[in-house]
Amino acid sequence: MEQKRVECPLDIEELGRSTWSFLHTMAAYFPSKPSQQQQSEVHHFITTFSKFYPCPHCADDFRERLKEHPVDASSRRNLSRWMCEEHNVVNRKLGKKEFNCELVDQRWRDGWKDGSCD
Ligand SMILES: Cc1cc2nc3c(=O)[nH]c(=O)nc-3n(C[C@H](O)[C@H](O)[C@H](O)COP(=O)(O)OP(=O)(O)OC[C@H]3O[C@@H](n4cnc5c(N)ncnc54)[C@H](O)[C@@H]3O)c2cc1C
Repeated sequence: MEQKRVECPLDIEELGRSTWSFLHTMAAYFPSKPSQQQQSEVHHFITTFSKFYPCPHCADDFRERLKEHPVDASSRRNLSRWMCEEHNVVNRKLGKKEFNCELVDQRWRDGWKDGSCD
């Protein structure tokens, strides 16, 4: 059996998984009532991120989507939902299953209600 590669440069899937983990977790811990400055900073962060994400065609599409579906950083809940919807656009594009955005806090912050993450 072929041995699993370790500590190699990330491919597009690994990069995507790591990046979504970070983005959803960042949204999960965003303030519930962000100041104007926090809203503007997260907006700036995502805009800048979209210019440097190291998968050029993913970044191009992401920048296009930001024009039609701007970041909603008005609260933790809204940012988490916005991120979930963005991820679902990519899921659809890649033919993957959509994620139920009602479950985003269980997945990225609180753990599943059945206690499997405790
Ligand atoms: C901004 C961005 C744009 C990308 N664009 C492309 C692209 O154009 N082409 C391409 O081939 N790849 C792209 N990717 C990578 C792609 O989205 C996947 O990360 C990659 O294909 C690996 O998929 P996966 O099935 O392992 O799980 P991922 O899609 O990486 O998901 C990881 C985990 O997140 C959870 N999850 C899934 N959907 C959601 C959701 N909607 N909300 C919250 N949690 C969710 C699930 O538990 C899942 O196991 C992009 C990644 C990012 C961050």
